[in-house]
Parts: sequence; structure tokens; C-alpha cells
Amino acid sequence: MTKYVFVTGGVVSGLGKGITASSLALLLKARGYKVFMQKFDPYFNVDPGTMNPIQHGEVFVTYDGCETDLDLGHYERFIDEELNYTSNITSGKIYSSVIEKERHGDYLGATVQLVPHITNEIKNKVYEAGITSKADIVITEIGGTVGDIESQAFIETLRQIQYEKGQHETAFVHTTLIPYIIGSNELKTKPTQNSVKDLQNMGIRPNFLVCRTPFSTSDAIKEKLSLFCSIPKENIIDAVDAKNIYDIPINMHKQGIDELILKQFGLPVNKANLKDWENLLDKMDNLKDEIEISLVGKYVELHDAYLSVAEALRHAGYKYNTKININWVNSEDLEKDVNLKEIFKNSRGIIVPGGFGSRGINGMIKAINYARTNDIPFLGICLGMQLSVIEFARNVCNLEDCNSTEFDSLCKNPIIDLMSDQKTVINMGGTLRLGNYDCTLLKNTLAYNDYKQELIKERHRHRYEFNNKYMDLLKEYGMVFSGINESSNLVEIIEIPKLKHFIACQFHPEFKSRPTRPHPLFDSFIKTSIKNKRGCNEIK
Ligand code: GLN
Repeated sequence: MTKYVFVTGGVVSGLGKGITASSLALLLKARGYKVFMQKFDPYFNVDPGTMNPIQHGEVFVTYDGCETDLDLGHYERFIDEELNYTSNITSGKIYSSVIEKERHGDYLGATVQLVPHITNEIKNKVYEAGITSKADIVITEIGGTVGDIESQAFIETLRQIQYEKGQHETAFVHTTLIPYIIGSNELKTKPTQNSVKDLQNMGIRPNFLVCRTPFSTSDAIKEKLSLFCSIPKENIIDAVDAKNIYDIPINMHKQGIDELILKQFGLPVNKANLKDWENLLDKMDNLKDEIEISLVGKYVELHDAYLSVAEALRHAGYKYNTKININWVNSEDLEKDVNLKEIFKNSRGIIVPGGFGSRGINGMIKAINYARTNDIPFLGICLGMQLSVIEFARNVCNLEDCNSTEFDSLCKNPIIDLMSDQKTVINMGGTLRLGNYDCTLLKNTLAYNDYKQELIKERHRHRYEFNNKYMDLLKEYGMVFSGINESSNLVEIIEIPKLKHFIACQFHPEFKSRPTRPHPLFDSFIKTSIKNKRGCNEIK
């Protein structure tokens, strides 16, 4: 029977609830349990797919094509399990489903209300995650902060679940802040007491506190929290600010929270096998070299907009004992009269990741041109692939007026165009080409050499595609189409074999990279960048 752990947050947002939830999941998995993870987001967007990345960070995509919150990326990287559409539930999803049922007449004349109809819908999503994943333990993170008006339906549902299932099947972990007051030189517990009271007022008794704090809390502080919050002292643990998020599971393990949760559930406390994770941490602490990679995009002011790309670069770095420093380059800045040589001077390779809309694309094309003409290791992702093709067609094949119809619907040569099944799409949300699709690799190419297999599956999120009408022309000038989705004849990977390392893909490899297992395309990109001692200098 599946057990449920709920992770809430109090006092302020941004405490690292997602990392706390992921760390717990990692520890329980290390103790031999099958775990699954889920996130509740109280906003009314059905999914974050329509949100601006500058506000919300990247949209993570699961293998089955669900556009999700970026925390799901942390979950997958920590627990190394593929999550799915049951893993990200929003108010938008819950309310639209209830309203659809009401219109369908499913409620048989009842007055449809927040309790029980909305709460039942949420509850079903929790149980569905347990049933479909067949996990021993499902960990659900509740977005937002306890007390927010928006999350009340979720909190009320958790109250009902706690009442229905009891202590042995549910555990409530409340992540909270213990601020430090400089003048009086003290850690303060009052905000935590108040946020636990908020939970208690809503009928929930948390079983564990994870206290985000700049320093370890004293016994006296834990005793005080225990007394005021009705939580055993040993169930209160510190989450001291960590310099590396991957250290957090071990910090939590040392304080025994995984063992205490299993004891609460009455499950055997198997020995934790954390060898791989500890080896990884050891590697991270002893990186011998460092290199810089330039990331050119238009959302760079919020690094979280490229979270999985940045993580994937770092993962590949760990394999080669190298710290990756990212030079965040705003593509719009490149559109001005700037010295590219100066901007890229300390970098060893250039990456152009995904994006939407026409702002900043000329800057990205300039960066791609710089990489191609100077034989600099280059990796293009999604929009990065589409722009690589445009740059090549314009400047190598001399194809005039060529563009993507995303930016110029009337151009003479639409080398990137809407996929045929997209032409009738009206709604923007959830209608991109999403999730896993097959890709067949051409032998004797960089791509085949990286993956070392013929058939791969990668996750997608795009509406436009390479227009096959131009394939022969580009081939004539030396571009190789090394990955194709055979069932729809869509181009998935392009490369320029004449260059040392110029490769770009229509899918998002970053979503499948793991800290202990870098993605093959990032692996080879970083490997060649490390070897590229010349850096991003121009070829004389
Ligand atoms: N805007 C492009 C498209 O829709 C690329 C999308 C992306 O980079 N994720 O096809």
C-alpha cells in the first residue's frame, strides 16, 4: 500500500521546498523503496507552458509530453526516475476538469462546491499518482506558502487525507525559515511557530520541520519549537544554507529524517545505499579544471529560464573533472555593434538553447555565425537548431529571404515552417509537439558517435520544423541530417562534419541529463570544448 509524504512551506517562498522534497525522495529510494514525486501548483494556468520564462523559469517536459514546473527537473535529476502527467497538478487543471464534469452532468444535480468537489478532484490526483506509479512512497510538494489564499483548496485536501489515512500512511514535512537577527545575534523561531499555527488552524498537524537557517540551530531552539509546535524534537531538522544543492540529501540523512519517516510508516529501515551520490559529491568537491561556456539566449536575466541546460552542462563537466562557468550572453545585446571576439574571449564553446518569438534571434544568429566561421564547438537546441539552419542557408547556400515563418510568415524561403498538423491549431496551451519521439541516427556521424546506437528517444517542445524542401540544397553545401524521425520524416539533428564540433538538435536533450550520467550530446560538447584550447578566438 502506497504511503504519502506531503511537503509544505511556511514563512517565505524560495526556501528550497523542491530540493527538500527531492532529497527526501532520494533518501527513501536509497533505502530500497520505489518512490514517485508530484507537485501541486496553485496557479490557474493549466500548465506553465503559456507563462513567460522570465517570470516562471524554464518549462520542464516529461517523456509523456506534460509541460511542468521546473521543480520536476530537480525531482528527475535527484531520483533518476521518469515522471509523468500525474506529477504536476495545477488549480487550472483541477478547476477545468471539475467544470467539464459539471457541464457533462456527472454530478447528478448536486451543487458543485469547493468541498467536496474540488477537494475530491485533488485527492484523486494524489491517489492516482500512487496507483499508476505503483510506488511505495509518493512525495507531493505543495507550491506556494501556507496561508496563501490560492493554496487553501490543496491544504484542505491534505487535511482530509491526513484524517482518512492517519499517521502510518501519511507524513507531513513543513519547510520553514529560522531567520538570524544580526543586532541581537540570535536565531528566531517565532515566524516558524506562526506558520505551524497557520497549518494547525487549517486542521493539519505537521510531523516534521525542516528549518532553513544560516547556522545549525541549538538544542534549546529545537526544544522551544517542539513545545510550541507539538512536534518531537528529533523530528526537527536543520537545513543549513548549502553551497551545493546536491549536498542537501546527505545533510538531511545525517539528521535521520529518512529513518524517522520510515519508522512513522512502520516500514523496515533498510540500510541506505548512497555510494553513487557520495562519489558524485566527492567529484564535485575536487574538480581539477574549469572552463567557460557561452550561453546565448534572450531570457538570460533569469538563469532559471535555462535551468536544465545549465545543469546538463555542469553534469558533463563533472565527468571530466571540470567546473563549467557559464558566460550568460543576452542575444539582444549581440544585435548592437559589439565586438563578438571580446564577448566570447574566455569561452571554449557556444551553446544556443531553445526559445520562442522573434526578439533577440538576430543576435543568436550572429553567435551561431561566429561559432561556424571560426570552428568553435557549438551545440544548438530546438530554436538553436532552427537558427543554425537559417544561418547556414543564408550565409553558406546564399539562399535569399530565408527565415522561419515564426518570425516572418511571408518570407520567400520558409526553411523553418509550421508542422503540417500545427496549421489548424488555435489554442496555444499544450498544443506543441511535446514529449518523446523516436529519432533514427545516421551512421558515421557525430550524433551516432555520441549515442552509439541507432534508435534514440528524446523529449520535444516545439511547433516549427525544418522544411524538407530545402534538404538537398543544404546537403549539397555540406550540412548532414544525422537524426530523423522516420514516421513523420521530421529532421531531429543536423551537423556540419567539416567543422570540429557543430551539432544542433530539434529536441531538448537537457531534460534527460543526470548528475551521475551526463547526456551524450552535452558530454561530447563539453569534451571537445575542454580540448579547444584556442577558445573562441577567430581563425586568422
Ligand atoms: N519557437 C520554436 C518552435 O516553436 C522553438 C521552440 C523551442 O526552442 N523550444 O518550434
